[in-house]
Amino acid sequence: MPASPDRLTVNPLHRRSGDPDSISKHRLAETGMEPLTAFHAVRDETMLDGNARLNLATFVTTWMDDEADELYRGAFDKNMIDKDEYPQTAAIEQYCQRIIADLWHAPDPDAAPATSTVGSSEACMLAGIALKRRWQHRREAAGADTARPNLVMSSAVQVCWEKFCNYFEVEARFVPVSAEHPVLDGPGLADAVDERTIGVVGILGVTYTGAYEPIAELQRALDAIERDRGLDIPIHVDAASGGMIAPFLQPELAWDFRLPRVASINTSGHKYGLVYPGLGWVVWRDADALPESMVFRVSYLGGDTPTLALNFSRPGAQVLLQFYLFLRLGRAGYTEVQGESQRVAMHLSSAIGAMAAFELVSDGSTIPVFAWRLREGHSENWTLYDLSDRLRMRGWLVPAYPMPADLEETTVQRIVVRNGLTMDLAESLLDVVREEVAYLDALESPLPRPTSGQAFAH
Ligand SMILES: *Cc1c(COP(=O)(O)O)cnc(C)c1O
Repeated sequence: MPASPDRLTVNPLHRRSGDPDSISKHRLAETGMEPLTAFHAVRDETMLDGNARLNLATFVTTWMDDEADELYRGAFDKNMIDKDEYPQTAAIEQYCQRIIADLWHAPDPDAAPATSTVGSSEACMLAGIALKRRWQHRREAAGADTARPNLVMSSAVQVCWEKFCNYFEVEARFVPVSAEHPVLDGPGLADAVDERTIGVVGILGVTYTGAYEPIAELQRALDAIERDRGLDIPIHVDAASGGMIAPFLQPELAWDFRLPRVASINTSGHKYGLVYPGLGWVVWRDADALPESMVFRVSYLGGDTPTLALNFSRPGAQVLLQFYLFLRLGRAGYTEVQGESQRVAMHLSSAIGAMAAFELVSDGSTIPVFAWRLREGHSENWTLYDLSDRLRMRGWLVPAYPMPADLEETTVQRIVVRNGLTMDLAESLLDVVREEVAYLDALESPLPRPTSGQAFAH
């Protein structure tokens, strides 16, 4: 069979008698192949995926220990929705919820409504729907119409909030970031909110830079708005990354349910929760913050379990892995693991900030994520996109991208330090960055540029 882009060739080394030498990638074949042949075919296909250790773009866990892998292998068939069949997995989900509610200072962690989700995106959708529902109920009770709700947030929000507003028909009101206000910090709120505002989103760990939005400042601004205009507007904190960092590295920072205006918080268990992909959490302050009309009652074991979720079936194993990590690490262990990532991030940022070509935008002292830009006037011959390309050639994935509106003229490059990026690896990365910058600085004329822009999905 001649080579074709539509066909997957089966390496002769793996081919067993009766196996085809190639097979369609796009149509189901009439006959199958030996399991081992199929296994090798799929594994060969994925070999060209990047090396996860060198992927400094993702926030998501790429490595867990052998015990976690063993637990995972024994549980990847568990469906989280089958609370009947797997009452212990359901119970462990609740242990995790209480632990997280307590980490975030819920007034009564045992009574704070919460759920696991497939990730922060689903968690944010649920929290957004709750804000919308509460607003609708309040308006109905006051005899007002419930048309045209809006949600106020920074232009640097993660795309899940644009999806929420699009899918659930809420107007997205963006407060643009600027050089003076690189995060949502209060000014601008008074103009953005009105009686149709269902809530304000604060981000603990802006994906572009790692910066924390000062949630206490947002609360202060909203308190003043309530005094002046009688609008009582709740806050949702999108702590996808910071929710599992701040309790350990910045325990004094009040960003969570210690602030009375914070109605709900989400985090990604698969980011700094340190679990493999497929896990998020959302917690509401108390039963008042979550409209009863969103909760479905399923009965199991003669009991009555409230559930709320967008998905029905989804893997349960990640929940067990989260509980495993809570048991294995405890508060001290999480503090140590996150602290080490932060030390590596700060080491990298101080070395990169010291290079003549660069200027730091953030330094990794919030979440272990930092960004930098090219120093103004440093070079006309290359950009951070070129450096990103050069680093990719050396195996390292370090994305460059434009900042959000109104800072889109600024290009930054970002490193997300996860557990597993050791000081040793960081040192080799710094060597590579220095070599590639020296190469680019030695160019005698500008690198040719494609006309279309490059995109990076946060
Ligand atoms: C990653 C991220 C999300 C989306 O989280 P997923 O778990 O990937 O769905 C939402 N908000 C922020 C701030 C994030 O960093």
